[in-house]
Amino acid sequence: MQPKQRILNAPVYQPGKPIDDVKREYGLTEVIKLASNENPYGSSPKAKEAIVAHLDNLALYPDGASLNLRWDLAEFLGVKPGQLIFGNGSDESLLMISRAYLSEGTNTVMASPTFSQYRSNAIIEGAELIEVPLKNGVHDLEAMAEAINEQTRVVWVCNPNNPSGTIVTTTELEAFLKKVPKDVLVVLDEAYYEYVVDPEYPKTIPMLAEYPNLIILRTFSKIYGLATMRVGYGIASEELVSQLEHVREPFNTGALGQVAARAALHDQDFVKKCRELNREGMKQYTDAFEEWGLDYFPSQTNFILVNLNQDSDEVFKKFLSKGIILRSGNALGHPGYQRITIGTPEQNEKVLAVLKEIVTGALK
Ligand SMILES: *Cc1c(COP(=O)(O)O)cnc(C)c1O
Repeated sequence: MQPKQRILNAPVYQPGKPIDDVKREYGLTEVIKLASNENPYGSSPKAKEAIVAHLDNLALYPDGASLNLRWDLAEFLGVKPGQLIFGNGSDESLLMISRAYLSEGTNTVMASPTFSQYRSNAIIEGAELIEVPLKNGVHDLEAMAEAINEQTRVVWVCNPNNPSGTIVTTTELEAFLKKVPKDVLVVLDEAYYEYVVDPEYPKTIPMLAEYPNLIILRTFSKIYGLATMRVGYGIASEELVSQLEHVREPFNTGALGQVAARAALHDQDFVKKCRELNREGMKQYTDAFEEWGLDYFPSQTNFILVNLNQDSDEVFKKFLSKGIILRSGNALGHPGYQRITIGTPEQNEKVLAVLKEIVTGALK
């Protein structure tokens, strides 16, 4: 079999280690996974009810246009229904963007380290990568604007950034958008949008009127707690959405995902509660890190990247042996660090207890 040569250069995505895998390997019965930024509080009970209510309709194809979800989400966001495109998670939204705009002879600009899938999809499409190092864990938008050239088609801004958790501010983003040529697409990946509490975080939907070369990506996987249902969406001009519709699979979001997302959207109390609990959990970590003198990036997400100044894979394994799955910084371009998803207060206590043993050298 001879695949296209360049797809072999695209790394295979390395997901967080599955819970059952760790249970088996370490003979444990209780394992906590804080590796994939999943919501520790699950999802709105209304989402579950909506799924159950739909279970008699499994033989039918889903509504390819996601109309009910589309209408409600458009109203919620204050945009036209035609300004939305749905994906099988944001992962598919950014795949569609790459498929539509990148090819050999073009290039794409992104930060480094950032979310791995921008890079993978660009490689698959044969586009050249222009990776601009983060500055103190934050997108260096000035350098990214300067890196754009005639062949640039897409620029990726992960805001907040995964894995550093940092944001670019309204002022920084506006200055950047003014510099980007009008025929270069700017993707704002806002997977953690609902977790952000910093008032400097840009309100990007109103920017769409001034910048038709902008697309905002959001998802039901993170704060809404519906990662398994695979529903993400893009918000852009109607023209941009109509271009992307050409590369969208006919039934890319499932019916259960659509009904669950719609119900979850209507439970904003759940979202608010999770946002608040997340900030409390974040404080558990930052208080401890300050006390222990550990460097970390200020995070507006539901995860935190902390520098333990120790071999990341070794620390990762020590946590595994204690039944806790984190994400090693080695896999994320931050050697020496661990990325920890904020859990429930009890889960955070457990992580911090192990971490204390590691920083004091008690856990060999
Ligand atoms: C989690 C994540 C996504 C993908 O989420 P989906 O589950 O595919 O919706 C996209 N971008 C970033 C930055 C993420 O962290």
